[in-house]
Amino acid sequence: MNRKREISAEEALQRLIDGNERFLKGAVRMSGPSVETITRLTKGQQPFATILGCSDSRVPPEWIFDAGLGELFVVRVAGNIISPEVAGSLQYAGAHLHTPLFVVLGHEGCGAVQAALETKFQGVRQRSRIQLLVDGILPALKGVDPRLPPRKRLAQAVEKNVRRTVQTILESPEGKARRAEGWMKIVGAIYEIRTGRVRFLEDSGSASHITGRVTKGPRGHVKK
Ligand SMILES: [Zn+2]
Repeated sequence: MNRKREISAEEALQRLIDGNERFLKGAVRMSGPSVETITRLTKGQQPFATILGCSDSRVPPEWIFDAGLGELFVVRVAGNIISPEVAGSLQYAGAHLHTPLFVVLGHEGCGAVQAALETKFQGVRQRSRIQLLVDGILPALKGVDPRLPPRKRLAQAVEKNVRRTVQTILESPEGKARRAEGWMKIVGAIYEIRTGRVRFLEDSGSASHITGRVTKGPRGHVKK
């Protein structure tokens, strides 16, 4: 079945920004899904954004963007890194759900990124499978300033890690294809643990390349 995408990447981004504002004000609209919503969603899902975030218990995307059932396609993994499984989930979101917006969401005080810094600067070896996660983060930490005080250094590393994940998605064959089509946007963002605010990295590489005038959805090739 062909259908027009109901929402552009820009509108999807604005929805996330507005949701985070409601969250900050304590004015969330979500108080649990209605029976109508649950029933409606039995027909299928059409989330307006895909979020790749960290598993940290303090950063559930549905909460911080005040989003309900069926609104966000969420992939969470410690350190918001790309792995084959994560890439597969993102590919599914792009190819089958056609979410117009992809957000890589890092956060202040990320333990996974901190562990990677410890490996990089103190030679700490983590437990076996944690080390696999850390190994996925290490390439992003090139250029992190070891002279910065710990909190600033972690903040710098978190942002670099987000930017690298964004770049990896952009440089994938699918990322390039969607960019060429012009309907999808990828942005990096950082959740500020201390304030609850999400800071979008407008220059995370992607936005400016991909967006421009993203006002229409993909036409005629949306399959359900
Ligand atoms: Zn984290």
